[in-house]
Amino acid sequence: MNRYALIGYPLGHSLSPQIHERLFQLEGLTGEYRLQPFPPEQLAAQVPALKTLTGFNVTIPYKQAIIPYLSELSESARLYGAVNTVHCVDDRLVGSNTDCDGFLRTMAAHGVSLTGDICILGAGGVGRMFAIECARQGASVTLAIRESTQQKAAVLAQEVAAKTGASVKIQMLDSLKGPFHLIINATPVGMFPKVDACPVPLSVVEQTDVVFDCIYNPAETVLLRHARELHKQAIGGMGMLVWQAVAAHEIWHGTTFDTAHILPIVGDMYALL
Ligand code: NAP
Repeated sequence: MNRYALIGYPLGHSLSPQIHERLFQLEGLTGEYRLQPFPPEQLAAQVPALKTLTGFNVTIPYKQAIIPYLSELSESARLYGAVNTVHCVDDRLVGSNTDCDGFLRTMAAHGVSLTGDICILGAGGVGRMFAIECARQGASVTLAIRESTQQKAAVLAQEVAAKTGASVKIQMLDSLKGPFHLIINATPVGMFPKVDACPVPLSVVEQTDVVFDCIYNPAETVLLRHARELHKQAIGGMGMLVWQAVAAHEIWHGTTFDTAHILPIVGDMYALL
């Protein structure tokens, strides 16, 4: 039986085993997908055991920390400087970034173009990928951040400019002004258990066509509820989580999945929350 894992710390409640189980079923494969939490000081010691797996996924705080242990990086892992999927091939570990596939396929599934004015809330790990990818697709990107994130956002804006040639605007979250074609929430604001929080005021949502909240628990954050009530297009984060797992299976097994088989998994995972 092929063995897989998710490494991170802490891992808490994760839907990854259930998502991967559904993908194994679609592929007709038997696989065991386990959560493998361990503290950062154990990362080096865990690598030999990780090499005995078919593949593994990587989450916070190891998306960058795993890179020195890898033999090879895919183009996407190099571009985003982060790895969330590793394929163990003989004694080599090959790192990729499928978060971006998850994002792009979610946007495509909802018919959302990554053009025009796009505002990304937050400048952390996933915000960085959104900023680089949206700029690559030709969008005019604004990073909306809190005071304490200013230095990080300035570094990210420079990185985006270096990688894409596009200049990125920076605004403070508490005085954010639109209009925007798309707002992407890349902060944990509104995530379970602090579900009453919303990263931007209603006035900003009013000036926006589409809201994508990459949080998937709860299914409908306050931000998404505001968007829905204002008749804006509102997209939750579960699709991105499922599609990044699909892209990992494509890497591990070379499988091609039918979109019609994947979409029900998104709804079923929301039902498990
Ligand atoms: P991260 O690296 O910790 O970045 C979080 C960003 O949000 C940072 O810029 C942080 O600012 C900012 N932030 C945190 N608390 C805030 C607050 N109260 N007000 C304003 N800004 C705040 O985390 P990440 O890995 O990018 O993940 C961000 C979110 O995306 C999480 O909710 C995660 O679950 C979700 N996510 C979803 C998927 C998916 O597949 N759907 C994939 C990846 C991540 P500072 O730097 O100043 O702290």
